[in-house]
Amino acid sequence: MKRILITGGAGFVGSHLCEYLLDKGNEVICLDNFFTGKKQKIIHLLDHPYFELVRHDVTMPYYIEVDEIYNLACPASPIHYQFNPIKTIKTSVMGAINMLGLAKRIRAKILQASTSEVYGDPDEHPQTEQYWGNVNPIGIRSCYDEGKRCAESLFVNYHKQNDVRIKIVRIFNTYGPKMEPDDGRVVSNFIIQALKNKDITIFGDGTQTRSFQYISDLLEGMFRMMSTEDSFTGPVNIGNSGEYTMIGLAREIIDLTGSGSKICYLPLPEDDPIQRQPDISLAREKLNGWEPVVGLRDGLKRTIDYFERLLSESLPPV
Ligand code: NAD
Ligand code: UDP
Repeated sequence: MKRILITGGAGFVGSHLCEYLLDKGNEVICLDNFFTGKKQKIIHLLDHPYFELVRHDVTMPYYIEVDEIYNLACPASPIHYQFNPIKTIKTSVMGAINMLGLAKRIRAKILQASTSEVYGDPDEHPQTEQYWGNVNPIGIRSCYDEGKRCAESLFVNYHKQNDVRIKIVRIFNTYGPKMEPDDGRVVSNFIIQALKNKDITIFGDGTQTRSFQYISDLLEGMFRMMSTEDSFTGPVNIGNSGEYTMIGLAREIIDLTGSGSKICYLPLPEDDPIQRQPDISLAREKLNGWEPVVGLRDGLKRTIDYFERLLSESLPPV
């Protein structure tokens, strides 16, 4: 049994990771300041004898003895990370410094949840880990993109200078149950709109692409990355290499929900990447046979089921 700290453990990915690591027989400490995370996501774990919940902000130092740290704390949806951009940068940068300092003191292994956003609006396609990216350092997404890039630099330098055992995963768009219905990400937005027969809001002309990964494939990838030999630090892309336009995604969701929604077009936000697709050769090679196994249609069905339940539960009793 390992003792594992998960920062951002009450968020979408973190709450799944808490369950996943408890199921594998570990002790889990979930740390969160509840900015975008919710107690409801982990409330069912509170009675678990090997689960602890700590309200804390990663911009402040935190002391604990653990074997491993998964550093996930950071809002991930554009509307949330742009809400208080300075805080977003502080969370990525000071959070990384505090967690790396902790890992150094207690000799824990630490994994950073980095992002495909480090590639910005990529002019290489698909994106390999060797690609340095194309990020606007003063644009509206920079608080997130540059914060995550700086965190990667901190990780690499704590490794080189202080021998901290680090792992960096670059996560591509991930979706699934427990996403917040109103957090503005495209999969949750489209599903909620379709289920309510409201217009599906496509930003721009809808030809921009993303690659969507189902949550269980990400959990498996992160866990296998943490288990690799110490000499392999990453960064490694973790995502599903299927690439879809936003129009294609909207049509798929309309089809799966049988919705009467129409598509409407809104302005494309500034610096919105035009295309994104991970090259996952390195993950395939290094992560002990890891491969995304949930296709988009299957993953969307499971996510639609979740949101259908959520919407029906919040209806007032008749
Ligand atoms: P999320 O917003 O659901 O979860 C983030 C969690 O971090 C929330 O529980 C939030 O309350 C917490 N948090 C934020 N600031 C904090 C702070 N200062 N101190 C402590 N806790 C804080 O987002 P998510 O989708 O679960 O993303 C988790 C991680 O994975 C993030 O680091 C994100 O950048 C990364 N990531 C996610 C995706 C994706 O598609 N979901 C893609 C790339 C990278
Ligand atoms: N998007 C959209 N309609 C929405 C929400 C998002 O067309 O209601 C687009 C957005 O402009 C982007 C893509 O969907 O091109 C993915 O957006 P998301 O915020 O989910 O992730 P990110 O842009 O961070 O990859």
